[in-house]
Amino acid sequence: MLVPHTGINAAAGRLFKRPLVAFAAGLAGHALLDLVPHKDISAHKAEGFMVLLMLGLVGSSCGWRSTAFWCAMGGVLPDVEQVLPWTDPARGRRRYFPTHSRRFHSLPVPGAREYRTSLFLQSAVSLAALTMAITGCRPDRCGRS
Ligand SMILES: [Zn+2]
Repeated sequence: MLVPHTGINAAAGRLFKRPLVAFAAGLAGHALLDLVPHKDISAHKAEGFMVLLMLGLVGSSCGWRSTAFWCAMGGVLPDVEQVLPWTDPARGRRRYFPTHSRRFHSLPVPGAREYRTSLFLQSAVSLAALTMAITGCRPDRCGRS
């Protein structure tokens, strides 16, 4: 769910004044979103391309030092370990971000254990959040340090 991590954290970044605080909040936001029961996309290259595009949109709209951009970066960064060979469980390695362990990733809903947030809903929410982030966040109005 890297696309929602980017869009939702970019929108949430507007709540902060300092890029470093926004980045830390983005890391926390990543953990919260990982807990949500969700389907994960298997097209990692396409997802990576979308995330770079979204980060570029946020950075060029809000500013590269804006809280929106840095909250989105904090939201994206933990998932880098999902594609690194030296944190690949299939090779006997472990992942370090707490919500990347099976125990905490995509928690089941009591009474609806099969429920997973669909890719369509994730995309719709991400698009709405990204639109909110880049339309409400102009460089002259953004929290910049
Ligand atoms: Zn994650």
